[in-house]
Amino acid sequence: MRESEEALETRVWRRLAIVRENVAAALERSGRGPDEARILVASKYYAPEQMRALAAAGVDLLGENRAQDLAAKQETFGDAFEWHFIGHLQRRKAKDVVGRVGLIHSVDSVALVEELAKRAPEEGVEILVQVNVSGEESKYGVSEGDVERILEAAAGTEGRVRARGFMTIAPAVERVEDVRYVFTKLRAIRDRLRGCWGPHFELSELSMGMSNDYIVAVEQGATLVRIGRTIIGGDGP
Ligand SMILES: *Cc1c(COP(=O)(O)O)cnc(C)c1O
Repeated sequence: MRESEEALETRVWRRLAIVRENVAAALERSGRGPDEARILVASKYYAPEQMRALAAAGVDLLGENRAQDLAAKQETFGDAFEWHFIGHLQRRKAKDVVGRVGLIHSVDSVALVEELAKRAPEEGVEILVQVNVSGEESKYGVSEGDVERILEAAAGTEGRVRARGFMTIAPAVERVEDVRYVFTKLRAIRDRLRGCWGPHFELSELSMGMSNDYIVAVEQGATLVRIGRTIIGGDGP
């Protein structure tokens, strides 16, 4: 039997409070202000009928992975949340996402930038470039060497596609310290590119850190952490 809406709300509330505390402590440890990192909840784990409980528990920012789910959930809960897109985005799905979200975290090809420019509403679309920092198994994200090609493509869209920063998914590891370098490196990439791309793009956002590694990611400069399992997880309080 699926748990009641109330039980879900209580659990999400409690888990979210823990994540918020951990984020706040990590910000303080690293000498950053209390509002310098936002918590995005990865909503792929939630059925449409569970979304109300998320809003009631104080979740305000969701990230969806699939265009179809995004449309379905927005139909009912469009106003209850701010929406981002965090999953791999196929070019042919760009048109279904582009007017629906405030930020697309997962742009990883010039072709996708061009498609987004073509499909963007008048006000344009904001993106992060997804970087495959570790260079290992993960299928998605560009290598560091290809990042500027994407920024160049975006710069050529006359403001229709605006880069706000970078996103990465760290490899799954047992010891979280083993991925600290991934976050440090994404930040270094951002700092280096901000110098020369500053006139075009703000490049202030670093979307990095998930349930396993968000504390380390915030210590290394994350401005957006994408949290799923630790909030929905079935066991425990
Ligand atoms: C599911 C997902 C997350 C959340 O991962 P958890 O390990 O469940 O916290 C973050 N980012 C992306 C891109 C995801 O698909």
